[in-house]
Amino acid sequence: MSSAKTDEWYERALAQRPEGRAFIDGAYVETATGRTYDTITPLSGLRLAAVADGDGEDIDRAVRAARRAHDRGQWADAHPRDRKRVLHRFTDLLLEHQDELALLITTDMGKPISDARREIESSARELRFFAESVDKVYGDVAPTTPYALGMVTREPAGVVGAITPWNFPVMMPVYKLGPALAAGNAVVLKPAEQSALAAVRLAALASEAGLPNGVLNVVPGGPAAGEHLARHLDVDVLTFTGSTEVGKRLLVYSGESNMKPVWLECGGKSPNIVLADAPDLDVAARAAAEGIFHGAGEVCNAGSRLLVEDAVFDEVVGKVVEESAHWQPRDALDPTSRMGPLVDQCQLDRVMSFVEEGRASGVRLETGGRRTLEETGGYYLEPTIFSDVDNASRLAQEEIFGPVLSVVRLSSAQEAVELGNATVYGLAAAVWTSDVTRAFTIARQLKAGTVYVNCYDKGDNSLPFGGYKQSGIGADRSLHAMDKYTNLKTLWVDLNQHPRA
Ligand code: ADP
Repeated sequence: MSSAKTDEWYERALAQRPEGRAFIDGAYVETATGRTYDTITPLSGLRLAAVADGDGEDIDRAVRAARRAHDRGQWADAHPRDRKRVLHRFTDLLLEHQDELALLITTDMGKPISDARREIESSARELRFFAESVDKVYGDVAPTTPYALGMVTREPAGVVGAITPWNFPVMMPVYKLGPALAAGNAVVLKPAEQSALAAVRLAALASEAGLPNGVLNVVPGGPAAGEHLARHLDVDVLTFTGSTEVGKRLLVYSGESNMKPVWLECGGKSPNIVLADAPDLDVAARAAAEGIFHGAGEVCNAGSRLLVEDAVFDEVVGKVVEESAHWQPRDALDPTSRMGPLVDQCQLDRVMSFVEEGRASGVRLETGGRRTLEETGGYYLEPTIFSDVDNASRLAQEEIFGPVLSVVRLSSAQEAVELGNATVYGLAAAVWTSDVTRAFTIARQLKAGTVYVNCYDKGDNSLPFGGYKQSGIGADRSLHAMDKYTNLKTLWVDLNQHPRA
């Protein structure tokens, strides 16, 4: 744990000189046009740094570098133990630069500094898991006729295009880089324009760790750069985390270009279901508050829809409102802060428009709903809870991506599955009950990639994380993630005779 106090973090923040250029073929470079944009800090709304505004030409250059690196085979054909060593070293460097990276995250997108430091720790665990996997994933020998040897091997897909969002500026890239690099691919990463600085820094650390030039390229830029990457004829696989709306477009781009596989981790409106026989309502309420207010609700698997059985509805709502007091936003550079500002003015306006819509609809506003700490210039919003929300309304259906909880009343436990599944999304869900049979039955009926029982937002490197329905295609994390970045090669060796002949 860093012992730095708020003042020290401010001193360090002021001393930062973030690198904002693209990283291509092992070096920081200017974009072809030389154009940059100013990234602002949501802590004050002031300019933080100039960032490369990459476009098609820069993406082309990065893809060429990645292709060359891949074809040279320095990484793809390296001995597994060498790839493993580099990825371990990369992990060590992440941890050695924990404070520096955390500060970039906090100042660029507003996450509290303690959360940002934890993001680096969990990213390091994730990367370490894939470093370890390099020499532990086997191919298969198939049970074919004894007159042949049927083998299945995995080959790196080639050049991977990765497009990531702003909410976890290190962890989202690492979710893609870990398995893609472990499997031997070269990568072109286009981080989100709102928080590209940490990704830009990651590239240099990977290079310092010994990753050959061209194996990891980072090109900051906006949607046009992302589109160019997604349509690129020389990109073999596209992997993405972000909104469902953009995910759908990426599928179109792929269909209109080279039919590259597109792996999507998209939005959610995850139901957190509290039944009357929940083992401990205090624990459930605490987890419900954390499930929506942690990360200011700018988290794809946020428990943004709380479904509570009628018999305990008022009690649970009362407890979650009480818990929300612990999530009042504070200066994100204060190490005790649990919730910082939203990422930018645009996101604040969007979230506020949902709050206004809720107010106007007459639904009960239990707490919050106001912008706060305005004197800082930052985009802080109070933790906000609406109760007795109609599950069919926009408040309960749209991914708000802010600290806004919609509580829906369940007239009976039987309604839990029907209402829980009444959404286009299927990223995560939770059920709180003391009855193990009921927990398991409901968990099986919920159409979500992850179902938590008597907890919220737990996970592990060894477990896949992905969505059903419009929450995505494919999963990050776990050894299953490697499948996305490898091609299966079938090898049929004709023996022409029975092995015992
Ligand atoms: P969010 O809603 O979380 O901002 P988006 O889905 O808009 O998420 O953005 C996630 C990532 O997708 C960002 O890196 C962004 O630049 C990129 N992006 C946005 N629009 C497009 C597009 N049309 N084509 C490719 N990438 C895009």
